Parts: sequence; C-alpha cells; structure tokens
Amino acid sequence: MTINKPKGTEDLIAADALTWNYLRDVADDLFTVYGYQPVETPMFEQADVFVHGLGTGTDVVRKEMFTTLSPDAYAKVAAGEADALKAAQRLALRPEGTAGVVRAAIEHSLVAQGGTPAKLWYAGPMFRAERPQKGRLREFHQIGVECLGAEDPAADAEVIIMFMRYVEALGIDRSSIRLLINSMGDDACRPAYRDSVSAYMHEHLDELCDECKVRADTNPLRAFDCKNERCHEVMEGAPKISDALCDDCRAHYAKVKSYLDAQGIAYVEDPRLVRGLDYYTRTVFEVQVVDGLGAQNAIGGGGRYDKLFETAGGKPTPGLGFAAGFERLVLAMQACGATLPEPVRPDAYVAVAEPEVAGAAFALTQELRDNGFIVEADRQGKSLKGQFKQADKYAAPFIVVVGPDELAAGKVKLRDMSSHDERLVALDDVTNALAEALGYSVGGCGCDCDCDGDCDCGDDCGCGCGCDCGGEKAGGEQVGGAAEKA
Ligand SMILES: [Zn+2]
Ligand SMILES: [Zn+2]
Repeated sequence: MTINKPKGTEDLIAADALTWNYLRDVADDLFTVYGYQPVETPMFEQADVFVHGLGTGTDVVRKEMFTTLSPDAYAKVAAGEADALKAAQRLALRPEGTAGVVRAAIEHSLVAQGGTPAKLWYAGPMFRAERPQKGRLREFHQIGVECLGAEDPAADAEVIIMFMRYVEALGIDRSSIRLLINSMGDDACRPAYRDSVSAYMHEHLDELCDECKVRADTNPLRAFDCKNERCHEVMEGAPKISDALCDDCRAHYAKVKSYLDAQGIAYVEDPRLVRGLDYYTRTVFEVQVVDGLGAQNAIGGGGRYDKLFETAGGKPTPGLGFAAGFERLVLAMQACGATLPEPVRPDAYVAVAEPEVAGAAFALTQELRDNGFIVEADRQGKSLKGQFKQADKYAAPFIVVVGPDELAAGKVKLRDMSSHDERLVALDDVTNALAEALGYSVGGCGCDCDCDGDCDCGDDCGCGCGCDCGGEKAGGEQVGGAAEKA
C-alpha cells in the first residue's frame, strides 16, 4: 500500500525547500532594516484565539478551521460528548498568523500601555480546510509582519512600503503587480456603513447567491469578495465606504496616501476592498499580480486591526501588519522570470583509484570539507570509471584522484573536468591548489586580497587588503574555501 500526502499539501523537497529558505532569508534581511524581530508562535492554539480574533462570521472560522484534539478530548468527542470539552481542549491549527502573534503579545505584555511598539515578523505553515485548487492549499506557507502599538498613519505607509520592497527584492517587478488600498473605517463610522450595505443587500436579496443571502445579516461586507458573477454586479451598486468615513478616518487615510505618494508608491484605491477577516479597521491593502495567476491573483495583503487586542482580551492597542503567501509569491516570481535558488553543485569530487587508498581519500575529503569546500565522494563502492560518471552527474568542476602510486610520492591528481587537464599536486597543497583552480580567494589571512598570502607585509606593501591580521596568518592554514567565493 502506498500512502500519499494529504490533499492540499505539498512536499518541499530540495529546490522547493531552498526557495522557501530563500524567501525567509530575504525577509529577514529586509525586515531587520525596519527594526523587526522574528517570532515563532505555536502552529496550534486554542480555537477561541481564532474564533474571537477572526470573527464568527468569517469563512475561515465557519468552514475552514482544522480543529485538533488530544487523545482524551478525542475520546470525548467520539463518545458524543463534544459539549463537555473545556475551552483549553478545543484546539485548532492556525489558519493565519496574526491572531497567534497578538495572543502572544498580550500574554507576554509585549506592548506596555504607551510603550514602544513591538515589531515582529514570522514565516511558517498555516492551515485551512479549503477546496484545494491552483494557488490555494490546505497547508500553505506565509511570511508576515505585525507592528503592534503604533497608530500613526506613517506606520501604515511603512508597512505597505516594506511589503512592496520585499516583493521587489524577490525580483517581482513593479509593473507586474498592483497595490490596492482602502480604508474600512472604525467603530465610529463602520457600523452605520455596515448597516447601509446590509439594507442595500436586503433590497436585492433575490439577486444574491445563497451564501450572500446569509451574509446580508451575518457579515455583509464579505459579499464584496463573493466569487459569484451576479453578486459581484449587484455589489457594484452598494454604498461605498469612501463616502461613509468619519473625519478622523478620512484624515488618517489621507495621510497614509500622502506618505505613499511622497515615496512614489503607485496604488489603486478600491472602495470595495474589505479583506476577509473581521478584525481590520481603517487601512487595508492587497498586492495582486496583474496577470498570470488567474482568479488567485493576490500574493498578499494586510491592514490595520486596532480592535483586535480588545477582542482577544487585551488592553486597547493599535496594530497592523501583512502576510504574503509563499506559494503565490513563487508563482509570481516564475511569471516574472525572477531567479530562484538552485541546489549548489560540488566544488570537487574525490575519487579512489584503488580500494587500498580509500582511507586516505576519506581523510582528504573530510579535510577539504573542513576548509569549506563542497565535496562529493563515492559511497556506493563504484569503479573508478563509475566514480568519474558520478562526478559528471554532480557537475563537479574538478576531480581529485587518489591513487596508490601518486600517494606514495605524497601527491594526488587534480583533474579539470571541462578541459580534461590533469596535474599532480602535493597532498598538503590540495586545498590551495583547488581554491586557486576554482578562482576562490586564497589570501593567507582569509581576506579578499590577491596577495595569495605570499606577503607578510602587515599591509605595508600596499596590497590594500585592508585586513588587520598584520600578515600574521600569511601562509597559514586558512584558505578561502566556499565561504570566500569570488
Ligand atoms: Zn454571493
Ligand atoms: Zn471612522
């Protein structure tokens, strides 16, 4: 019997896992510049964290949460006693990152009242029991940031700009994406707006899909996102939030836009952009790919959630953030022809000519790796011919051949795989010879100068290497190796 991965999941193997690491590395570099620190929260939380945080009327909570149970709790449910479960026993896999980060911020008092903001970024898997389709998985990966404790519109602009810079850093060019922004209002102006949308929907109830008929009462704004064509047309005529904002929200929104304008960040104002979750207030935004991804064209988005802390049981604390989907970012990168990381090829392959020198070859392989070279060697008992074939498969540019006669003379053969040139190299000079052949830096001090470590000038000769080794390490054991690739 073969067991396959669950529906809607992906195995990230080699190149795919490298790509995920790459996206996290780029995020780490960029978000650090903005003062963000990493955060890792559990992949499951009490279901209430999401129910209260995201809202009972959202699709995510109503239909898409993966609940998870301990064996004890499972036994209760199996016995028909689900109602007897305590809140702490009702667990769910996280469907998004924000609610858990906010829970952690409250639990650890990360944002003192009036204190400095907490700025956190995360990367990890999220889980939603959606119908799997292209660009939409049940286990998907997100990279996101949360800026907690800042209400100034400059914070909104900053978070949006960070998102745009991130996308650009991945090689997705500006012309291929579209930034949509909107303000969803706040407690002062949204309830009345919500009621006006609800009233409008009731006037058109028989034109709406069954889902939206329910939404008219539970979550009218969600109808703007309905995939049904007819609903879309009907909602085109619905009241616009831009006409309903209170003065404070209007002023906040205007400031956000002025910061974006000053930075030359192009955006499209979309009064129907409401995002799917209940917790958003004021600024919301979404970044879409202009073409190439079909209906699933949003690569990420976010916004402000000034009420979420209170909803989650904390003190009133403004917050905002964004999340970007790994799978869709990669689709967008591919559509733009952006460079994706590839598995590295080895620097060299160490081949054994006769079994009697296997021990020496093993030691040499290890020595080269300890010096930072990426080295492959046969671990299947292949013939010399077989080893050459394997080195070719690995695309190793050099083979170091260890043979009994050469070894007796304290030498090994270094073969250039592209020119087929072979030369003998002293065993104690293989690291230097290989580094040189690969064009790696071999400054004796490990610096980038091309003095080859021959000088012991302590910088007096003007080799300009700028290191402060004082030439002491010249001729020493350290060569550049893989870490010092030119
Ligand atoms: Zn609908
Ligand atoms: Zn308002």
